[in-house]
Amino acid sequence: MENIIRCDSLVKIYKTDDLEVMALQGLDLEIAKGELMAIVGKSGSGKSTLLKILGGLERPSAGKVIYNDTALNEFSEQELFGYRNNNIGFVWQKSSDNLLKYITASENVAMPLIFKGIKEKERRDRAHLLLDMVGLSDKYDSYPNQLSGGEQQRVAIAVALSGEPDILLMDEPTGAVDRKTSEELQDLFCRLNKEKGITIIIVTHDVSLAEKVDRTVMISDGKISSERLLDGEYSVLDKAGRVRLSKELREAVGINSNRVKLEIEGGKLTVVPSEV
Ligand code: ADP
Ligand code: MG
Repeated sequence: MENIIRCDSLVKIYKTDDLEVMALQGLDLEIAKGELMAIVGKSGSGKSTLLKILGGLERPSAGKVIYNDTALNEFSEQELFGYRNNNIGFVWQKSSDNLLKYITASENVAMPLIFKGIKEKERRDRAHLLLDMVGLSDKYDSYPNQLSGGEQQRVAIAVALSGEPDILLMDEPTGAVDRKTSEELQDLFCRLNKEKGITIIIVTHDVSLAEKVDRTVMISDGKISSERLLDGEYSVLDKAGRVRLSKELREAVGINSNRVKLEIEGGKLTVVPSEV
């Protein structure tokens, strides 16, 4: 299948006064056009950093993101701004990061269209259509604080879609809502993905979401360590052929040094703990 995004050896280093944090450590990832993908991983593993780089909010310290056939690192600030506005929609966990609280749901959704030079009547019509699509036909004129957490996230999705992006990036969008609301939002993501063919990438802690997507990638220490596809879980080799053995796997077979033996037998590769 055709890729919409390819990440090549992405590195991101954050420098603070007295230390450097390597949030991404040579991350490789391909995302197919129209894919519905989840990203999971412990806090601090680099998930949000990856989303910000994919969305052109931050630039990597090294490595590349290829969008269709274009390398984002070759974009000027102006071009990156255009990419963010025309190709990407963002939904964050916190409602206050998604919505302006002093304007209505409909005005929030219409806002990105102002910058595209669309006239007021058409902006309102389009905002209403988008709110219909996310199931909020009766909330056009409600202010964010008059809406439930789940409804606010629906408005946020409508805002993200109003610029007609081809990629929707969501950072823990169900992190602050209850179980039932989360399920309803998940059904909405699935529907948008199927009906509109939009590529959706969701960072989540929610295992029930992981069951509904085409693919779940696990990120640990700034790299993709494994992937779950419909037929099971796979470890991922990096470009140099390295594979990560998680702490759980190492403990399960008693690997407690930094050496293992690799043995080939009957078409299988076995990892044997070292005796010394
Ligand atoms: P996750 O979303 O998986 O919890 P993040 O991508 O937010 O992880 O962070 C990865 C690492 O980078 C963490 O150690 C975090 O503290 C660090 N980090 C993230 N953003 C910044 C920043 N703006 N300045 C300094 N360090 C940062
Ligand atoms: Mg995060």
